[in-house]
Amino acid sequence: MFSTRTIELKSKEEIAIMREAGAIVAAILVILSQAAQAGVATLELDKIARAQLAQRNAKPAFLGYHGFPAALCVSINSEVVHGIPSASRKLVNGDIVGLDFGCIYRGFYADSAVTVLVGAVSPLARKLVSVTQQSLSKGIEAMQVGARLGDISYSVQRHVESNGFSVVREFVGHGIGRSLHEDPAVPNFGKAGTGMRLSPGVILAIEPMVNAGGPEVETLSDGWTAVTKDRSLSAHFEHTVALTERGPEILTLGTD
Ligand code: MG
Ligand code: MG
Repeated sequence: MFSTRTIELKSKEEIAIMREAGAIVAAILVILSQAAQAGVATLELDKIARAQLAQRNAKPAFLGYHGFPAALCVSINSEVVHGIPSASRKLVNGDIVGLDFGCIYRGFYADSAVTVLVGAVSPLARKLVSVTQQSLSKGIEAMQVGARLGDISYSVQRHVESNGFSVVREFVGHGIGRSLHEDPAVPNFGKAGTGMRLSPGVILAIEPMVNAGGPEVETLSDGWTAVTKDRSLSAHFEHTVALTERGPEILTLGTD
C-alpha cells in the first residue's frame, strides 16, 4: 500500500529543526496537561495552546487541517481521537483526557499526544492509560536501524493485547516532516519482520490508540470525534521520533 520509494529521509539539519518543533510541542503539552483539571472547559485548553504557540513563533498544525476547527484535539473517555474543544464541555473528576497537539515551526511539523487523568480515575482507566503509554515505549524501542516497520506495529499490538486491551485499526501513525502526514503509515498492529526496512533519517509519529473494549470505532455526527463503538474507554499517546545512527530519538520528549 505504501511504497518505500516515497519515504523521505531527513538530513541532520532537517532533524535539528524538527527537534526544535518537537520541543515546542512537548513544552506546550506539559502546560496543557497541568491545565486539564476538573471544571475546565475544553475550549479553554485550545485557547492556551494557541496563545503558547504564538509566544513561540510557531503555528498550529491541526487548525484548518481538512477543516478541523481547533489547534488541539481533546478526546475524553470513550472518545478515541479528534475531539473538538468546546466552551460547554467541562472536564470532570475521573475523566481520562487525550490531548493531541502539533505545531509547524520553520516549515516542519511535530505531533504528539498524551492522555491525562483528571482527579481520581477508576483502576481500569489508570491501567488503560498506563498500558497505552508503555505500548508507545515498546514501539519506539523497536524503531532501530535495520529493523522493519512491522516490528514497531507488532511491538505495540503485543503489549496492548497481552494486557487485555485492543488497538484501533482505523487510525494509524505516520511519517512526518514538511507535511503533517507523510508515508509510511504506521499501524498499531502488524507482523514483526515485515514492511520497509528502517534507516537513519526516517521520522515517524508513532501513536497507539488503545481501547478497553473492542477495537471498533465510529465517528460522531460532528464529523470529527471518533468514539469506541462499544463506548468503552480509549487512551492515546504519541511521539514524533527520529531514527539516527544511534537509534531512536524522541523529538517530542517533555521534561515531566
Ligand atoms: Mg497527533
Ligand atoms: Mg499523528
